[in-house]
Amino acid sequence: MPEKMKAVVKTKKAPGAEMLEVEVPKIKPNEVLIKIIATSICGTDVHIYEWDPWSQGRIKNIPQILGHECAGEIVEVGANVTRLKVGDYISAETHIPCNNCIQCLTGQQHICGNLKILGVDCDGVFAEYAAIPDDVAWLNDRAIAPEFACVQEPLGNAVYCTLVEPVTGKTVLIFGDGPTGLFSAAVASVAGAARIYLVGRHPVRMEIARKVGADVLINDKTDDVEKIVMEDTEGVGVDIVLDMAGTQRAIDLGFKLVRKGGRYSAFGVASGPVNWDLNNGVVFKGATIFGINGRLMFDTWFKVKNLLRYKKLDISPIVTHKLSLEEYEKGFELMMKRPKISGKVVLFPGGVPA
Ligand SMILES: [Zn+2]
Ligand SMILES: [Zn+2]
Repeated sequence: MPEKMKAVVKTKKAPGAEMLEVEVPKIKPNEVLIKIIATSICGTDVHIYEWDPWSQGRIKNIPQILGHECAGEIVEVGANVTRLKVGDYISAETHIPCNNCIQCLTGQQHICGNLKILGVDCDGVFAEYAAIPDDVAWLNDRAIAPEFACVQEPLGNAVYCTLVEPVTGKTVLIFGDGPTGLFSAAVASVAGAARIYLVGRHPVRMEIARKVGADVLINDKTDDVEKIVMEDTEGVGVDIVLDMAGTQRAIDLGFKLVRKGGRYSAFGVASGPVNWDLNNGVVFKGATIFGINGRLMFDTWFKVKNLLRYKKLDISPIVTHKLSLEEYEKGFELMMKRPKISGKVVLFPGGVPA
């Protein structure tokens, strides 16, 4: 085992990150050491990279290795680890639960009261090696390529958000053309949604949405969203709204366009408190709201694994860029560039596979 490794580290309380030579992590008895094959950049990583107000309040440990979405191989197991062995191909559930609070003890580990997040509260995976607690190491199927295995965490958000209740035969309106919005369109399509509307702002991403199964693409900047959806649903509204954006506009439109008795899944995070027509949007409509945080552990993971390994779900149009870990700056630029031209950007510490 080498002593040193390359890692992308947040070194200053300022925008950016640096590639450094750091120590290979020493694992604790309940951890596994993984050699990272692929790791993808998440919106959370971009917030930390840009050093926005959220990350300034949230990130306590600097220097800290960035990143949380990964796929890799176990090269060492801690003394107390019995479930996994060297050579296993794994990804990580990034929500690290305490296993002691009321949520953890009642099957809701994903919203643990003492939740730690990989790459946010502790060192992450933008590196050649990473230490992962045994209970969040997810055993992958070899049939799933590393560039898809590493995005199972955000894909899991979309699977949980979309399938928290059945979508088969229903109309689904998605706000947001970021990766989770695109994943949601793909999942809703595979799950048999009757008609999928996607409201976005970036033409390249809207084209990806079409490829993965969205039926009606609505440009938020140029189209009349309300008119298009209401006319298409004969004045009724949609059965299901998936809010992957969390903007004031998405919330206003979403609660207006969900039909009476419909479902609103809230995944997108608002930048602060929002104004909201509770009476007409929820109470009088008898609408149901689901708050979606993370993925069910591990119900969602089994669904994701099966959809990918049996090739029922094709997410290849959404994984748009593959770079070496050294090219992380280019990766972040792709994620920040407007109009947005990337879906998921995947980094390979060992170089991009041919
Ligand atoms: Zn993520
Ligand atoms: Zn807990």
